[in-house]
Amino acid sequence: MNDCIFCRIINREIPSTIVYENDSIIAFEDISHMAPVHTLIVPKKHIANILELEDPELLEEITFAIRKVAEIKGVDKTGFRIITNTGDDGCQSVKHLHFHLLGGKKLSEKLD
Ligand code: AMP
Repeated sequence: MNDCIFCRIINREIPSTIVYENDSIIAFEDISHMAPVHTLIVPKKHIANILELEDPELLEEITFAIRKVAEIKGVDKTGFRIITNTGDDGCQSVKHLHFHLLGGKKLSEKLD
């Protein structure tokens, strides 16, 4: 999956600002922040989107990583939003499963 930009970040072929990492998950700053806190939580295994996520253990690890990143970024008390865009209507631009963690301000209730 050399043409996948997130795989290239995981393989250290492209630089990123890493916030958290373990054996199965990496979290790094989104290059184009949409909120004061905007971190991407990404399984290292290349999975196209949430519909392809079949491993319950990996889902548990993602949940753990979300909690860790929220603590590291200091939004665990104030709240945050998790988004995983899926497919064309969801405007998924990178076809490697990832979760946007957004926070650091009161977010809009509107979806778009
Ligand atoms: P999505 O549109 O849900 O697929 O989100 C993809 C996200 O990846 C966007 O918010 C981009 O800003 C972000 N992104 C793309 N390339 C990079 C990169 N090299 N480093 C960090 N974030 C990136």
